[in-house]
Amino acid sequence: MSLKEQVVASFENTFGHQPDGVWSAPGRANLIGEHTDYNLGFVLPFGINFRTYVAVAKRADRKCRVASTIDSKIYEFDLDGEMPKNLDWALYPLGVAWVMRENADFGFDAFFDSNVPIGAGLSSSAAIECSIALALNEIWNTNHTKQELALIGQKAENQVVGAPTGMMDQTASMLAQSDGAVLLDCKKLETKVIDLGLTKNNLVIAVIDTKVAHRHSDGGYRSRRDSCELGAKTLGVESLRELSLSDLPRAQSQLDDLTYRRVKHIITENQRVLDSVSALRDGNLESLGRLLLESHSSMRDDFEISVPELDLAVETAMEVGAIGSRMTGGGFGGAAIALIAESKLGELEIACKKAFEANSYAEPNIFAVVPSEGARKDS
Ligand code: ADP
Ligand code: MG
Repeated sequence: MSLKEQVVASFENTFGHQPDGVWSAPGRANLIGEHTDYNLGFVLPFGINFRTYVAVAKRADRKCRVASTIDSKIYEFDLDGEMPKNLDWALYPLGVAWVMRENADFGFDAFFDSNVPIGAGLSSSAAIECSIALALNEIWNTNHTKQELALIGQKAENQVVGAPTGMMDQTASMLAQSDGAVLLDCKKLETKVIDLGLTKNNLVIAVIDTKVAHRHSDGGYRSRRDSCELGAKTLGVESLRELSLSDLPRAQSQLDDLTYRRVKHIITENQRVLDSVSALRDGNLESLGRLLLESHSSMRDDFEISVPELDLAVETAMEVGAIGSRMTGGGFGGAAIALIAESKLGELEIACKKAFEANSYAEPNIFAVVPSEGARKDS
């Protein structure tokens, strides 16, 4: 049974009636541009071939009820009630409903099933938010664009879940396209799909999931945001996006060492995203690979969001002959990606497992991801 058929069956078992439709949204991997989104810079993520499906039916009353294969509970809130609180994972979808509720005349039942790895830095959270946001946009007739729905997902994650994330994940999950990455200008809110051309070069993007669990809401993510804000304020700009490489000497003289290194990562990372787009347009994948590696070093040494497992994943991928590799996602765990010949995937898997075992790390999970389309209605 496909995941789409399974989610319908689970919906019927749980709620005792049929859904009105099924929607889905992918997880994402970020090719390059880390922590640049909330600094209003550039990011270049793509949707992956792992999706969250949601079956939804309208209700006659104003209750919003959600269930998932993740546990066997039904969580609910009332459209006329208070903001949902203490509802575990259900805060993600009910948070979206809360943000979108203004013109809602009726509630809904929703059941989620997903093959997006949870907590691996592949944004299972955006997949759940975007699948329900697209569904509610249709049943509530709210006529939002996909970009607006992405911002609604971000708002739910920031205000209801309480994770201070940027807009990248939801934008990627909403607007992704097959074989392409989404260049997002987080200030202008403009997106452009950039052709990746992986297949014609016999390349794949491998994910090395270290199984080190990350927690966005933890202090590390917040403190990076705080450093970026302090840097921007001290340098007299609204956001770090306003700065370029030529501002680095001034930044170094005006900031304390820690803040400078945080700021330096953001400034150089924005440039690396733009350079990556040029490299892709020129078909220069070697140069893209170099940028991925430089991005990883910057996150390891200046932004300090990597962990030894991620560094080892990147080193091992390069030893096996990857064109480039870097940790992806918010950091402090999760996954690395490697741009590598399809024929070397097996070797990569063996080498990573061996290297992790030699260091007494948990066994990593290695798999290729295919750049895939964004949120859609499936039936
Ligand atoms: P990531 O987005 O990197 O996977 P997060 O910590 O941001 O990690 O989001 C993971 C959380 O999202 C889970 O702990 C859970 O609360 C929620 N979630 C994701 N997918 C599902 C799902 N299919 N069903 C229920 N909750 C989910
Ligand atoms: Mg997330």
